[in-house]
Amino acid sequence: MIASHLVVPADIAVKWSDIAGLDAVIQDLRESVVLPVRHRDMFKNSKLWQAPRGVLLHGPPGCGKTLIAKATAKEAGMRFINLDVAILTDKWYGESQKLASAVFSLAAKIQPCIIFVDEIDSFLRARNSNDHEATAMMKTQFMMLWDGLSTDPESAVIVMGATNRPQDLDKAILRRMPAQFHISLPSEVQRGQILKLILATEEIDNNVDFNRLAKLTNGFSGSDLREMCRNASVYRMRQFMTATDRNQQQASKPQPSTGGADINKAMI
Ligand code: ATP
Repeated sequence: MIASHLVVPADIAVKWSDIAGLDAVIQDLRESVVLPVRHRDMFKNSKLWQAPRGVLLHGPPGCGKTLIAKATAKEAGMRFINLDVAILTDKWYGESQKLASAVFSLAAKIQPCIIFVDEIDSFLRARNSNDHEATAMMKTQFMMLWDGLSTDPESAVIVMGATNRPQDLDKAILRRMPAQFHISLPSEVQRGQILKLILATEEIDNNVDFNRLAKLTNGFSGSDLREMCRNASVYRMRQFMTATDRNQQQASKPQPSTGGADINKAMI
């Protein structure tokens, strides 16, 4: 039962180069996590240059927190366990405490490893008297397992949490996450960079105006931009299908663009 929740992907597909507009965060993570983990033999006697045991990524949904976590693991040569909080918080699930122990011991075995906890606030929020007893016990146990990492200087296991609501987190949790990064909605310049990355592998017309698109998409997250480009490609595909229906012969030499060829029109 437990093992079925702990599938660790053999390889992580996300790299730094798959992320646009977050160079400053990437640079910090490179210095604070990737280098110390990749070169831990070199730094094993240093008390100053050790990767943190906890990293917090916070900010609005769809802005690249999960991407950053996966790419950090990839670039540091770490394994990646994506811990499903819903299983830990389900008080009827009975096995959740065993699962938490299993996660930490698996991480120690396959280290270097990142244990990624998306929506970490949903089970490690500030404790209060309304907490169900099982939830309170779960939190305490999780923190004990986490503290256990610090007793082993050779251990290269990092808990990386992501949240939209850092203010809801227990202070004890925030103390365990000395490295904290805010990943905000992208600025106009960042939106332009994200759009260029999303469309880099697509066939697009020369007239696609990235500056204009970036200006028009104020308030869009990276995930929204991706969805917009996908919709534009569907719009283009529909046009193509209509033309095909109208003229079968013309369709024998199709030029279907999967990317935002008509992205400017789709936006209007
Ligand atoms: P949530 O809080 O909802 O879990 P998140 O911040 O973890 O969201 P991701 O899952 O990392 O967001 O991003 C969703 C998708 O949006 C990515 O798979 C990617 O396609 C796109 N995306 C978001 N930000 C970026 C970015 N900076 N560069 C490139 N693609 C991005």
